[in-house]
Amino acid sequence: LETPSQPIIPFIEGDGIGCDVTPAMLAVVDKAVAAAYGGQRRIAWMEIYAGQKACTVYGEGQYLPAETMAAIQEFKVAIKGPLETPVGGGMRSLNVAMRQDLDLYVCQRPVRYYAGTPSPICHPERVDMVIFRENAEDIYAGIEWPAGSPEAEKLLRFLQDELGVRKIRFPASSAFGIKPVSREGSERLIRRAIAYALAHGRKSVTLVHKGNIMKFTEGAFRDWGYALAEREFAGEVFTWQQKSAIAKAEGKAAADAAEAAAVAAGRVIVKDVIADNFLQQILLRPEAYDVVATLNLNGDYISDALAAEVGGIGMAPGANLSDTHAIFEATHGTAPDIAGQGKANPSSLILSAVMMLEHLGWQEAAARVVTAMNGAIAAGQVTGDLAVLRGDVPALSTTDFAQALMT
Ligand code: NAD
Repeated sequence: LETPSQPIIPFIEGDGIGCDVTPAMLAVVDKAVAAAYGGQRRIAWMEIYAGQKACTVYGEGQYLPAETMAAIQEFKVAIKGPLETPVGGGMRSLNVAMRQDLDLYVCQRPVRYYAGTPSPICHPERVDMVIFRENAEDIYAGIEWPAGSPEAEKLLRFLQDELGVRKIRFPASSAFGIKPVSREGSERLIRRAIAYALAHGRKSVTLVHKGNIMKFTEGAFRDWGYALAEREFAGEVFTWQQKSAIAKAEGKAAADAAEAAAVAAGRVIVKDVIADNFLQQILLRPEAYDVVATLNLNGDYISDALAAEVGGIGMAPGANLSDTHAIFEATHGTAPDIAGQGKANPSSLILSAVMMLEHLGWQEAAARVVTAMNGAIAAGQVTGDLAVLRGDVPALSTTDFAQALMT
């Protein structure tokens, strides 16, 4: 990516703890950029509005003004704090609206351990994964009908008439939800995950699915993934589908040898695992996983479970990406219980800004923030969420923690 030395980057402060974590992020990033480039580069931040603050600036009900979307469209890269989902009135979540309107089909979430962070597992230092979660399909497409609605009753009749042979009885009070998963949607996500693994020297891409139960959606995700890997990345990857074909023809030893040879040749191993087993494996042997590509709902569960291994959602960054646009965002919500009290951990948003700096090609500034984060947490300089879990250090305020990253 060609980045000018003073790119304009729109930012949304966010609701709730947005007013705590966003100023902290801006200060830390400005400091790192200045230190890395000695004034040669600078981000020209441009505040744009969404959520409550947008209602104050633009008027009641204006949660996501057209100007905000136009700015993101124009400048292509943006960063945002959390936004409260407005209740009632059938409003879409603002986050979902942005993802849909900009077709941000990838949710990318790196999960990395900083020494000194409390963790429920024995070897959190072995956790180093990047999750690619499909962001547009699956149950999040929002196709649901409540029990007793004409649509649900029609479906009920259809299922009883057409599928009655399976002897499955649906109570009259059944509600229904539909889970669309397309080949195009799955392929573009998996393509990004494999390309990322190749570009970043990662060892494997694991397709996480529930194909044993949902054959035509999640099972197809796995099959489309293997087919795409072998078709578009031939010579660069080795898949477990290829491995099992060798095992069938020549035996297990030959298959193991073929995989070992592929690893030695620097190929990325594309494998798959069933989601429930994956959630067990990341507790027992997280080192077995590297880049992960998965469907929307699995990705939701997996992201939070993995975040907990490295300090919780206060530590977990994220980005929503299309082929042209990127919105970097904290993965947590607005934390109304601690909003405006200077208690929030700004690391999720700061590490999202690290992803943004890397996206801009400003690796030196990104590395400075990561080094500072390593240093502060290892020295026990942490906010309340981590201090409570550690039990041996006092809690720093949001601004004091940001200050620790800047000194
Ligand atoms: P939440 O993430 O806001 O809070 C869950 C718990 O984690 C709370 O106890 C909170 O205090 C704590 N927490 C979260 N972030 C923290 C941080 N940075 N530092 C310290 N502690 C932190 O989830 P919720 O309460 O379910 O949701 C509140 C609101 O946020 C809802 O309106 C929801 O729709 C919205 N939300 C927005 C996003 C987003 O903008 N991407 C994501 C999730 C939820």
